[in-house]
Amino acid sequence: MTTSVNLLGGNGEGRAEPRDPELSPEGPKSTAPLPAAVAKRNAELVERYADELYDADAQTILEWTREHAPGCIAVTLSMENTVLAELAARHLPEADFLFLDTGYHFDETLEVAERVDQRYPQQLVTATPILPRAEQDSIYGRNLYRHNPTACCRMRKVEPLAASLSPYAGWITGLRRADGPTRASAPALSLDATGRLKISPIITWSLEDTDAFIADRDLIVHPLTTQGYPSIGCATCTLPVAEGDDPRAGRWAGNAKTECGLHS
Ligand code: SF4
Repeated sequence: MTTSVNLLGGNGEGRAEPRDPELSPEGPKSTAPLPAAVAKRNAELVERYADELYDADAQTILEWTREHAPGCIAVTLSMENTVLAELAARHLPEADFLFLDTGYHFDETLEVAERVDQRYPQQLVTATPILPRAEQDSIYGRNLYRHNPTACCRMRKVEPLAASLSPYAGWITGLRRADGPTRASAPALSLDATGRLKISPIITWSLEDTDAFIADRDLIVHPLTTQGYPSIGCATCTLPVAEGDDPRAGRWAGNAKTECGLHS
């Protein structure tokens, strides 16, 4: 059957055509510019300390952040593990926790977020996409994550994170070089595209280091990490991986996509 677009943007049968996924919904999706003095200071800090911190340990990096960052810091938490929450509670207690609730998380991930909120005194800020899932389905077509995961990640991760970073001079990430080839030479300290500090205190940690720290401190454990999911994103786009495989092999499995865009 042939379908044609009518003048009202429909398909001739009263149904609207899906919107072009390259056009995000209206609403906040970018980070406000930093005050000039903060941007300048951040650039100076990266210039001066990035090499020194490249292989530094987590405590050194976080204490450096506490001493030097020219403003509030957000600790981004995927809830795959709670290592960053624990480290920040010890070494960067003034920082906020920031969790991206894409609307597609495993229930277990949301439960970990709730437990983190109960266990740590930091404010837990939850960033959400402009559109709830049902609205995204109705405007862009069902299950955008299947036919255009890049657009879905942009609308549900990249843009909500960008919008929520406006109050901060920098953010803490859980990047590890051991996570895979795309992260093998990631810096511990850099500037993001808006001039904010991007700080990765566990950049040198292996999966084993992470597991040892979790066991040592009796941290909240995401139950799926013991069921074959070493890397956890949205439930719709994460599969378990075989032992010894690239820990991120289960992310967007079967798709060329390897990163959500938060770190590119
Ligand atoms: S991981 Fe999948 S469901 Fe989640 S935002 Fe990206 S494409 Fe969408």
